Amino acid sequence: MTEINQDSFEKELNANENLVLDFYSTECPPCEALAPKFDALDKLYGNDIRFLKIFRQENRQLAEKLGVSSSPTLLFFKNGKQTGDVLRGGIKRSDIMQNLDAMLPEDRVREIHSAIKPKTTETNSLILGAGPGGLAAAIYLAQARIDTLLVDPALPGGQVSTTHMVSNYPGFPEPQPGFMLAHFMSEQAKNAGANMKVAVDINKIDLVKKEVVVDGHETIRARNILISTGASPRYLNIEGEREYYGRGISYCATCDAKYYHDREVVIIGGGNTAVEESELISKFASKITMVQQLPYLTANKVAQERAEADPKIDILYSHEPRGFEKRGDKMVVRIENLESGEKSELISDGVFVFVGMKPNLDLVSDPLEKDEWGYIKVDENMRTSIPGVYAAGDVISKQVRQITTAVGDGTIASLAMARSE
Ligand SMILES: Cc1cc2nc3c(=O)[nH]c(=O)nc-3n(C[C@H](O)[C@H](O)[C@H](O)COP(=O)(O)OP(=O)(O)OC[C@H]3O[C@@H](n4cnc5c(N)ncnc54)[C@H](O)[C@@H]3O)c2cc1C
Repeated sequence: MTEINQDSFEKELNANENLVLDFYSTECPPCEALAPKFDALDKLYGNDIRFLKIFRQENRQLAEKLGVSSSPTLLFFKNGKQTGDVLRGGIKRSDIMQNLDAMLPEDRVREIHSAIKPKTTETNSLILGAGPGGLAAAIYLAQARIDTLLVDPALPGGQVSTTHMVSNYPGFPEPQPGFMLAHFMSEQAKNAGANMKVAVDINKIDLVKKEVVVDGHETIRARNILISTGASPRYLNIEGEREYYGRGISYCATCDAKYYHDREVVIIGGGNTAVEESELISKFASKITMVQQLPYLTANKVAQERAEADPKIDILYSHEPRGFEKRGDKMVVRIENLESGEKSELISDGVFVFVGMKPNLDLVSDPLEKDEWGYIKVDENMRTSIPGVYAAGDVISKQVRQITTAVGDGTIASLAMARSE
């Protein structure tokens, strides 16, 4: 791989019709995740496209000139001009290839693609999902000297990496930024000797054969598989929701209710989770407005009665949210009365959305035993109904979904996997 500095960039740009430039830094986990992909693609496309690396910290002038403010950043150039996407963070091989292909004639792209050789990787334990459940399992397995590979379509850390502050994970007297806790966990797993393939495309999961295909051409075969792919909140998919996720809109009362001491909150939803979580939020908030699309709550009767009797809680029946925005430090929820069609706004300090969660199992088609909500059923050793397949964390059928419980599940699963040696 050719490394340049800012002084030689112009010369390279003039000398090469096609060029891709990787701005990297040291102590940068996403840069480490990118490096082997970048090397492998250089071998594949290197006759047609010049692959270059540049150390961002020592070449700030060029970085600034090209608008690069984080590492890694990949820039593509054709005939001296920047082209294609600017790729940052957890960069996938498929995203790079898409940009490289766009720089070449179609027949050459076909030739290059036909040179991609299928690859097989063997491991003892394959962990799907590098969140707290998967990382805890990886630490135990790797420390037991069991060949362990973690695979994740994103960067390691799971939901913790996108959590603003975590104050209830033992061992840290002060609240920790979620991304730091996630970083510590993943570094601990790496230091223990676990291998990682992160920011990859997961194409196929065959639990019975214990095979997973990643990045289109690599088949990973394992003796045991741990599914720790987590769960995702169901989204409302309305304006402003993605934008204010974690910045005024929360999906977890246990995690965030404490930040609303003596403040006003809006809760979207009227089912079991919304109503039960409103009880916890009510311990902190001064006022709660619950927005429920139906003319009644659908939670269990006892919880409903408690919510209806709570003087802090107002319930707006037959209303739906239409969008979110921020005004100063206030959250605005635009709502519509489904009976009259009247539109209005609710202004509060924060919003909780509880319209359901779903396990991340889209790629799993094997007949795993699941509960009525689609979460995987496991025994006390985290074994699933398929021999050699374990599950841990938010993806399993259970009551409490927290970092501590995911880590506990991962620990139990890993010890059972190690015993199955
Ligand atoms: C906004 C927010 C704040 C939170 N705050 C707290 C808190 O303060 N304290 C607390 O204890 N808990 C908190 N939680 C809950 C906590 O984050 C979860 O319980 C915990 O992360 C679950 O860990 P996990 O490993 O099971 O799953 P996750 O953390 O969800 O990790 C799953 C991983 O699997 C990967 N994945 C998905 N699909 C696949 C696939 N097909 N193949 C391979 N990998 C895949 C994902 O990319 C992800 O990295 C919070 C949750 C949210 C959403």
